[in-house]
Amino acid sequence: MSNVVSYELIDNIGVITIDNPPVNALSHALRKGLQDAITAGQTDASEALVVICAGRTFIAGADITEFGKPPQSPSLPDLLTTIESSRKLVVAAIHGTALGGGFETALACNYRCAVSDAKVGLPEVKLGILPGAGGTQRVPRIAGVKAALEMITSGNPIGAVQASAMNLIDEVVVGNDLKSSAITYAKDLVASGAPLKRVRDITIDPSTIEPGFFEGYRKKLAARARGQIAPDRIVSCVEGAVNLPMDKGLELERALFAECVQSPQSQAMRHVFFAEREATKIKGLPADTPVRDIKHVAIIGGGTMGGGIAMCFANVGIPVTMLEISDEALERGMNIIRKNYSITVKKGKMDEAEMVQRLNLIDGTTSYEDLSNVDLVIEAVFENPDIKKEVFAKLDAVCKPGAILASNTSYQNVDDIASATKRPQDVLGMHFFSPANVMKLLEVVRGEKTADDVLATAMKIGKKIGKVCALSRVCYGFIGNRMLGGYGRQAHMLLLDGATPAQVDAAAEEFGMAMGPLAMSDLAGLDVGYKARQAREAQGEVMDPVTHCIGSALVEGGRLGQKSGAGYYKYDPQTRARISDPEVEALIREQAEKLGVKQREISNEEIVARLFYPLINEGALILEEGIAQRPSDIDVVYVYGYAFPSAKGGPMYFADQVGLKEVYDTILRFQKELGPDYWQPAPLLEKLAKEGSSFAAWAKSQG
Ligand code: NAD
Repeated sequence: MSNVVSYELIDNIGVITIDNPPVNALSHALRKGLQDAITAGQTDASEALVVICAGRTFIAGADITEFGKPPQSPSLPDLLTTIESSRKLVVAAIHGTALGGGFETALACNYRCAVSDAKVGLPEVKLGILPGAGGTQRVPRIAGVKAALEMITSGNPIGAVQASAMNLIDEVVVGNDLKSSAITYAKDLVASGAPLKRVRDITIDPSTIEPGFFEGYRKKLAARARGQIAPDRIVSCVEGAVNLPMDKGLELERALFAECVQSPQSQAMRHVFFAEREATKIKGLPADTPVRDIKHVAIIGGGTMGGGIAMCFANVGIPVTMLEISDEALERGMNIIRKNYSITVKKGKMDEAEMVQRLNLIDGTTSYEDLSNVDLVIEAVFENPDIKKEVFAKLDAVCKPGAILASNTSYQNVDDIASATKRPQDVLGMHFFSPANVMKLLEVVRGEKTADDVLATAMKIGKKIGKVCALSRVCYGFIGNRMLGGYGRQAHMLLLDGATPAQVDAAAEEFGMAMGPLAMSDLAGLDVGYKARQAREAQGEVMDPVTHCIGSALVEGGRLGQKSGAGYYKYDPQTRARISDPEVEALIREQAEKLGVKQREISNEEIVARLFYPLINEGALILEEGIAQRPSDIDVVYVYGYAFPSAKGGPMYFADQVGLKEVYDTILRFQKELGPDYWQPAPLLEKLAKEGSSFAAWAKSQG
């Protein structure tokens, strides 16, 4: 048939097998081969056709290597028309993940069967686009409007059992021999005279939709879509599925798909998609660098981070031993883990048996002797260099040779920590983000002496536990927290200059941040930074009041943030909604007067530039110093670790879109207007701005 699609007649069933490793992506050869096979199946002795995939999955989606290239016939919609026009029943047999165009292909078949652990979904919205081959028209026709909107606007895949409850899968097959089950299923359909069911023939009665439903849904989405257009266009398509005939609905979907694909948002989101994959590659490290086997992990410290990290490993079936300073501390840590899992169970996202299974994988100890056999240790004790070194010296004494010793430190020098051991080659940073079982980013910190296979292992295990990994060299705060310094500082200084907390946060949120910087500080707790400043002052550092006086005054007035019911805002005790507080505004004015800062009106444009340009400038320094491997790695860190809007592609991509000259000129203007202390353009930014270049072009020149 073709080199990726084969056809065989088994009894009265034509079996079409797709074999396009690794994930049966919808390449041109696949589309052409499948179309030919369906056509050939029309004229032979078969009475029904089965479409099945070899390898680990059904068609997992588009072929990303064809992105941006001129389309080659047949297009996916053409192929689906061929499938839907078949005169014989077509059955899709699904295993693995049928995503995007893969699931749309299955939806164009007359019947769908799947193994119970298969997953189906339409993740396009995550790339700023929408399903462009009938997904928005077929899913609502089968599963109803509400379920379709939820599935397509979230982009999250669902399991076969849930999909079957939504009628998206007709038959969940028992056992793992999908091929013979699918053939039997097809034979049964033929024998029972099952109709040639076509999704396009289903109509949705518009009178079943409550008036104003779509408008209401749009409003609800707008709050979480953070300015993205694709979710809104998906609602329009689904509305079309209700009100338009199939072909008109498909036309609408095509038009809105084209709009989304060309939008700067989608381009930014596709940048993030590729950046994420690129970030896993470590320059100078061959792809076949050996990795160490990780069968058992130890976590030191079962606090906020340690508990979350332990869950990450238990979630993928890796046993964890958590070490704490006392039985009470251990019990406290285990209780937090239990509570987190039971919340997941209550939400219906995990069943009781799974929870028990995962909890059974986590055991606790207070004795280092119990760590003699672990393969990886992740230290998450207090952020204190002396305690960390003490812990590493103990680990060095008890852990077996070859065990990897990682620190989750946010700021400390990984090389200093490594120096507390006799095996610095086995030491590195594995910096998780809070909550560790939820946040996707893992900063892998390469120490001066970290061995190649240790780095490769950290990257691999990071991927295994579902994290997006990015490599950082050692510096204060690594990539992410180092860059955050200027952002937080400017948020504070904007208040002194006359903006209100609500204005600063609203501008950041309008830009697309999940939460503005001051609301974020309230969530994290203002006492955290306060204590850190006290510790630095105790070591003789002199803090500039301009960058922290308001935060300190709030803490000293008992306002610690959300946990004390008040910080930069008041919080409604019931709903936790933030409420602007005139007391805080008075406190800010008082601090400004004390420092002799003259307050003025501040525009949202100024807020955005003052918050985000310092990220870009620090990012440029980080690149020059070789702390980050590439600008796109910095974007990955910010999108996955700090909820920077993916529709803006990350700070460095955003800078390229604004234009580096504009960023540089604005920094120079701020230098004049606001003083030079915090506005020194990075040499790399200056150079690229003057050359009319971009970070992306610079990255290419670096190879
Ligand atoms: P935490 O205070 O919640 O937990 C620390 C735990 O370590 C406590 O339970 C404590 O009993 C235990 N501990 C202290 N000394 C110990 C020792 N010698 N041996 C064993 N256990 C010991 O702190 P956290 O927020 O989980 O932070 C832990 C580390 O993770 C710090 O280095 C921090 O900088 C880093 N980190 C924190 C966050 C965050 O948002 N909280 C994010 C990323 C990284």
